[in-house]
Amino acid sequence: CASDAKFFVGGNWKANGTVSMVDQLCKDLTAGAKQFDPKNVDVVVAPTAVHLQQVKGALGAPYEVSAQDVWIKGPGAYTGEVPAEILKDMGITWTLTGHSERRAYCGETNEVVGQKTARALEADLNVIPCIGETLDQRNSGQLFEVLTAQVQALVDNIQDWSRIVVAYEPVWAIGTGVVATPEQAQEVHAFLRKLFTEKLGPQTASTLRIIYGGSVSDSNCKDLATQPDIDGFLVGGASLKSGAFLTIVGSH
Ligand code: PGA
Repeated sequence: CASDAKFFVGGNWKANGTVSMVDQLCKDLTAGAKQFDPKNVDVVVAPTAVHLQQVKGALGAPYEVSAQDVWIKGPGAYTGEVPAEILKDMGITWTLTGHSERRAYCGETNEVVGQKTARALEADLNVIPCIGETLDQRNSGQLFEVLTAQVQALVDNIQDWSRIVVAYEPVWAIGTGVVATPEQAQEVHAFLRKLFTEKLGPQTASTLRIIYGGSVSDSNCKDLATQPDIDGFLVGGASLKSGAFLTIVGSH
């Protein structure tokens, strides 16, 4: 991370956890908080919706708590959904949007992701919209086209970029153990920085945090963290192990 932006590490716990496992993980993260300086890094964890309140109660500063998804509309007759206002009322300060698993399994389009992001911002949440290409898209030369369309849907929907952290997560690297090389990740992050500079202007683009996700581990994080346009990580599997996660938090 060479930009002025503060390093950012998110832990995406996905659809994992039991009451006792979440309790232990929160205890271990609390004990491990002295391993990093919160002046240098923002740390956010995203448990399942039903564990949010437990985690919010168990994890204080310097940690913040994030939802993994948010409803596209406000409160009301939308059975099964969790709107941003309800998250905010519970003291939740962040949400992910557009994670590739939601795009793949729940059919979320670029436009839906843009609208969910806008909705969450309206309700005063900070948002981590996720973008990234599949292996087929990369292999068929569509990498930059796919990312440009994903970014455009965000640009069309977002006014206040100060509350946004963009996660670049190549789908082929998520949960596969096949991490992007530092050079591959840097190439895309530099492309995204340039794209955001064109769309939003140099000031917004230089302070916008663009984090990498996809098989980040305690052993590969250091090499990735030294890349100039990588401002942090979104961590899946390794965020369920407090030791590995705290190493990643302290990696830059
Ligand atoms: P992974 O997941 O670290 O397990 O690859 C990353 C993510 O999906 O956010």
